[in-house]
Amino acid sequence: MKYFLAIIGGGPAGYTAAEKASKAGKDVVLFEQNAVGGTCLNVGCIPTKSLLYGAKQYYNATHAQKYGVTAENVTFDFAAMQKRKTIVVRKLVAGIKQRLNNEHCTLVTGFANVESRTDKLVTISCNGEIYEAENLMICTGSTNFVPPIPGIKDNPAVWDSTDALNATELPKSIIIVGGGVIGMEFATLYHELGIPVTVIEALPTILPNLDPEVVTVLADKYKKAGITILTETRVESINGNELTANGQKLTADKILVSVGRRANLNGLDALKDIELNKGAIVIDDFCKTSLPNVYACGDVTGKIMLAHVAARQAEVAVGRMLKIIPLQRIAYNAIPSVVYTNPEIASVGITEAQAAELQIETEVRRLPMTFSGRFMAENEGETGLCKMIIDAKNHSVLGVHMIGNPCSEFVSAASFAVRMGYTTAEFEQVVFPHPTVSEILHEIL
Ligand code: NAD
Repeated sequence: MKYFLAIIGGGPAGYTAAEKASKAGKDVVLFEQNAVGGTCLNVGCIPTKSLLYGAKQYYNATHAQKYGVTAENVTFDFAAMQKRKTIVVRKLVAGIKQRLNNEHCTLVTGFANVESRTDKLVTISCNGEIYEAENLMICTGSTNFVPPIPGIKDNPAVWDSTDALNATELPKSIIIVGGGVIGMEFATLYHELGIPVTVIEALPTILPNLDPEVVTVLADKYKKAGITILTETRVESINGNELTANGQKLTADKILVSVGRRANLNGLDALKDIELNKGAIVIDDFCKTSLPNVYACGDVTGKIMLAHVAARQAEVAVGRMLKIIPLQRIAYNAIPSVVYTNPEIASVGITEAQAAELQIETEVRRLPMTFSGRFMAENEGETGLCKMIIDAKNHSVLGVHMIGNPCSEFVSAASFAVRMGYTTAEFEQVVFPHPTVSEILHEIL
């Protein structure tokens, strides 16, 4: 059978594209070597959030005195947390399978290899069978980057994020190499469960891509709470569970390495002429690659490695392929992102530094989250911060950067303002419910 679309990779990009194209009545085959849901659902966003939620419950129970609550003999069961995480993941994977099934999409479990391609036909082999399709969408995602540090490979003391998520026992202590998003979320998990944590970051700050003022609030809190954060520190070598960084020796039960991810191009050797940039597939505004009839979405494009970006890219690519909304583009300037630390960080749009690079004259407004009554009621001892970057000429909202719980839940309101190009006067007309922390977005106007 010849398919209209073959998709390799069943993560947020692949399953979104498969569902959308199948729904439009097209014959779609989706190849996935593991479980559908990809990194995000199986070994990324969802399992980490499940474990982080368990850790937060324990942490809150043991730090509730400030709210007039004392709980004694609070304990946690890591195996039970892991079991719950597995059930959450299993249910979500089953849900995706069901949705694909409902749309009569063919799901093939196995490693797909592109055998050949012409402008009219792509041939793929999987499990010894040959599949043909008019169009190909590459959604093969990314894999953990292993830096060339002596002693890192085949070292049982060294974990990547997948090892950490699958561990049946907690480490007694941990060094986290890389203070990026993955590093700081795991630092939060282990710290809240009472494990000594050291974070090693090569650059002068953790979370280097985020607003520095917001990051300072987090770094100060975590340092005060006992997390060791070593910035401008380079790991020279690892020997068992001993690590040498900036000439200093550090030991821990486990060493978690989270220094970024790289596009996964396995199975694509036949696409010799596809344009790459720094090992990722180059795409246009509609996710078309340099090869006609080949699209790419998600981490493999190296654009912004976030599940919601992958899903949006898939929507735009299918829209273009099927000519449903052929000229719809992705608003990369209005992609929200969240770091699930405690407090959470959420942001959308450009930072002050990016505005300066783009030579945009800005007005920057700042407000502590304590301007929100709900924040005051529920975040004892925290101040939080909301920063808004405004175009000084036309007063449009260009970026919002926040720290304070639960900013992940209302950053989408800020995304909407940035996406629609709202001016502060237009955004001011939006009514926020009282009392909610989201009102900070109104207060700052
Ligand atoms: P990252 O790029 O966010 O952070 C990697 C960090 O490691 C950087 O701060 C970098 O300076 C540092 N680093 C690099 N080499 C180093 C070295 N040798 N020694 C010490 N530090 C070093 O990458 P990540 O944290 O691995 O995450 C991978 C991707 O997954 C990112 O794109 C991230 O956005 C995504 N992700 C998103 C979420 C979320 O949305 N909440 C959660 C997890 C991961």
